[in-house]
Amino acid sequence: MKILVINTGSSSIKFSLFDMNKNLSLAEGTIERIGEAAAKIRFKAPQYNIQLEKEGNIPTHKEGMVHMVELLTSGEHPVISGTQDIDGIGHRVVHGGEKFHEPALLDADILEAVRDHVPLAPLHNPANLTGIEEAGRVFADIPMVGVFDTSFHQSIPDYAYHYALPHSFYEKYKVRRYGFHGTSHAYICRKAAEFLGIPAESANFISIHLGNGCSMAAVRNGKSVDTTMGMTPLEGLIMGTRSGDLDPALHFYLAKEANLSMNDLDRIFNKESGLKGIAGSNDMRDIMAKSDQGDPKARLALQMYAYRIKKYIGAYLAVVGKLNAVLFTAGIGENSDKMRLMVMENLDHIGMELDSAKNSAPGSGIRDISTSPSPVRILVVPTNEELQIAMETQKVLKTMG
Ligand code: AMP
Repeated sequence: MKILVINTGSSSIKFSLFDMNKNLSLAEGTIERIGEAAAKIRFKAPQYNIQLEKEGNIPTHKEGMVHMVELLTSGEHPVISGTQDIDGIGHRVVHGGEKFHEPALLDADILEAVRDHVPLAPLHNPANLTGIEEAGRVFADIPMVGVFDTSFHQSIPDYAYHYALPHSFYEKYKVRRYGFHGTSHAYICRKAAEFLGIPAESANFISIHLGNGCSMAAVRNGKSVDTTMGMTPLEGLIMGTRSGDLDPALHFYLAKEANLSMNDLDRIFNKESGLKGIAGSNDMRDIMAKSDQGDPKARLALQMYAYRIKKYIGAYLAVVGKLNAVLFTAGIGENSDKMRLMVMENLDHIGMELDSAKNSAPGSGIRDISTSPSPVRILVVPTNEELQIAMETQKVLKTMG
């Protein structure tokens, strides 16, 4: 069975083709800067000796989808002979609101429901919808499945997902915590349970996703029971350009004192804050290098970033109870031994003992970086959101018979 995974952004399409029988990625590519003078196209399919980077004229997502098919079907050794070789398509959808606890086959009713959720994710859901609509034209008879970033967190209990605001805001405007990065948290929890040889349904984890966006999930008996992102992906940890948790009264204060509009604050909190706001860059490698050179703002940014994570580890230990493991994933979580060390320092007294030699040893796959006697394991688990979407898509297609 071949599954194509599509992740459509406002000016980009990312795609991966999987052979599910062999559990193998056949090809992956990105088309960025759609609608600009020169779109940037990257495509690789190592088994077919294909690796290319080029610029092209891709005015809309529609041309982007057509170009994606061309990349997969042309050349001396095409990856597939035509769209008929694809059995199903999995689309990443950022916001599924309260409706979607599971991935869903994308029919007209489901699409309408996704459209209803646009106000909850105005930056992401419209692009996801465009991707679904355009793919629907190009791959007319191929079943398509929506996999929602929010659905893993639908198990969070009401006392954890409600904000202490007038209850009518929840009823009228759906104001509540939803959480994101669900596909990544679900994937690494499953992989960690496999690695530890425990049933996924009884595993207790604190899952830490540290990329450009950052979030943590408290996972009890394999289910998310709390998460750091909220109604939007702005809440929680310090991120590349997002502030994470703030005093809500800052909005009124800054609006008045700095004469800023709601739009200004939206832009500043989402795009000009976080690591970038404190230390001038949203790239963790730059900040690490600057800190090593003695830059005080870079050092402060690293300490703030690690401290926020540590604080949530304490909170989530209280929430989950007896833990099997703490999991690190994504660009920073997988690659930065220094940040993992800063986060896990002095947590021995709560049963989390990092082995500094194992932590700094080079490695690529899933690995245990805790000391042998540590009561709680500490794992690095590479994430693979595309593969998780492909697997969820396959599951839905199998139920169709
Ligand atoms: P992602 O969104 O998962 O691609 O993660 C992006 C973040 O990972 C950026 O802040 C990068 O600087 C960071 N990153 C990637 N590789 C490393 C590394 N070797 N050390 C530190 N940070 C890294």
